[in-house]
Amino acid sequence: MMTPILDLIGVGIGPSNLSIAALSATKTQLSTQFFEQKPQFSWHPGMLLKEAKMQTSFVKDLVTCVDPTSPYSFLNYLVTQGKIYPFLASGQSTLSRLEFTDYMSWVANQLPNTQFNAPIEDIQYDKGQFVVIHEGQEYLSRHLVIGTGIQPMIPTCAKPFIGSNCFHAGEMATIQPNLTNKRVAIVGGGQSGADIFQHVFDGIYGAPSRIDWWSRRSNIEALDEGCFTDEYFMPDYVNRFYHLHSPVKTQEVQRQKLTSDGITNECLQGLYQRLYQDKFVRQTPAWWSINPSQKLINMQHNNSVYHLTYEHTLTGKKHTAEADIVILCTGFKRCLPNCLSEVLPHLKIDANARIELGENFNAKWKKACENEVYIVNAGTYSHGIAEPQLSLIAWRAARIINHLFGADLYRIPESPNIVNWLLPLKTNCPQNQANSRIYSSDELTSFN
Ligand SMILES: Cc1cc2nc3c(=O)[nH]c(=O)nc-3n(C[C@H](O)[C@H](O)[C@H](O)COP(=O)(O)OP(=O)(O)OC[C@H]3O[C@@H](n4cnc5c(N)ncnc54)[C@H](O)[C@@H]3O)c2cc1C
Repeated sequence: MMTPILDLIGVGIGPSNLSIAALSATKTQLSTQFFEQKPQFSWHPGMLLKEAKMQTSFVKDLVTCVDPTSPYSFLNYLVTQGKIYPFLASGQSTLSRLEFTDYMSWVANQLPNTQFNAPIEDIQYDKGQFVVIHEGQEYLSRHLVIGTGIQPMIPTCAKPFIGSNCFHAGEMATIQPNLTNKRVAIVGGGQSGADIFQHVFDGIYGAPSRIDWWSRRSNIEALDEGCFTDEYFMPDYVNRFYHLHSPVKTQEVQRQKLTSDGITNECLQGLYQRLYQDKFVRQTPAWWSINPSQKLINMQHNNSVYHLTYEHTLTGKKHTAEADIVILCTGFKRCLPNCLSEVLPHLKIDANARIELGENFNAKWKKACENEVYIVNAGTYSHGIAEPQLSLIAWRAARIINHLFGADLYRIPESPNIVNWLLPLKTNCPQNQANSRIYSSDELTSFN
């Protein structure tokens, strides 16, 4: 039997590709299939801590901002699960990560175009189609969307010690360490560091004898949650940001870091109040410390004790502290999956060795080609600070769907901002390119 050629194959089913799967599932004009290596949907399961909250509104779900009538909206989930009224009465504006994961699993389980337990090992490009390989089985597609997400970032000096007593925050809920009577070092001062500190402080993993929280940042810094800041997470801004020069983009992304990389005010306030009660009301003898401006520069391990050397980023002074357990809340990095290695040489790379992305999240080919490789959650350098976040996933998914179909399956209305950015917006950039280009047979065969 001939293998059918699909319009789109997606590799990875995290929130980014799940949004594309959900928005394309209701469009009968498109044939799509998404593959995920894990046995079922999960969202950073090792960081699914009991009390961890979302940083974004529940309205920014997989579909609503583009198609509020979709059966895969968070509101439909609430109604279907019979909890809409209690949810409204609870007055929460941000959800627990636990509930948002349950919502996304509910979507993933209903979709006809998702396949789990399906790691993609290899992708080849052959005469106008991609051959996507899972366990020797070949699936064919005209276009690809890579949504394989992020990998834990481990400081070099900690790499030799990774194990059950020294691990990345992304493993916390899977390792479930017993911290009873242990001295715990938490390294990293972002949202994960704060979530982990709070859980360890509350004794959720047993009562530790001591907690030391170390951060390279110059204080425990809040997420910039201002309403004007929200403008960075709107389509109009992203469309304008895209046309800035590359060095300016790098500088702006760095400057906007705390708009996505700080700690929510709700979390900080809860933490500060706990610490106040402990130190000034209960007057508990010191058993925790909060240490900003401290960069981890060396690690040793002797007789089950870790010796961690930090350098003060303002004074340059070094000192060493001991710990029994080290939790690395040192963030994540983006990297492309190995299965893309045969396709990569055909794609354009910029001066910083990054794939050049088109406005519609499509990788640019070295030689013109009618097949598209979309890459999501990879282009902070091209599309800005909103790219790795959930805020615009539905909008991005609709852009990709329209682009690959060659017509507007989703109407994406102009959405002007309050702020006048005075940045150029190339309105003549066609969204409907993917299927409308004509190339010579010479160009098309030159990849084979
Ligand atoms: C702890 C945490 C909390 C966050 N909270 C928020 C928040 O509240 N709001 C917000 O806007 N953003 C948040 N983010 C940022 C962002 O939304 C998440 O990182 C999000 O998971 C990104 O989704 P993704 O689909 O791009 O990648 P991922 O969620 O990483 O999913 C990628 C998937 O691809 C699969 N995969 C990889 N390789 C293959 C392969 N070869 N074959 C098949 N499958 C493969 C992986 O198993 C994985 O399931 C958070 C990030 C973290 C780490």
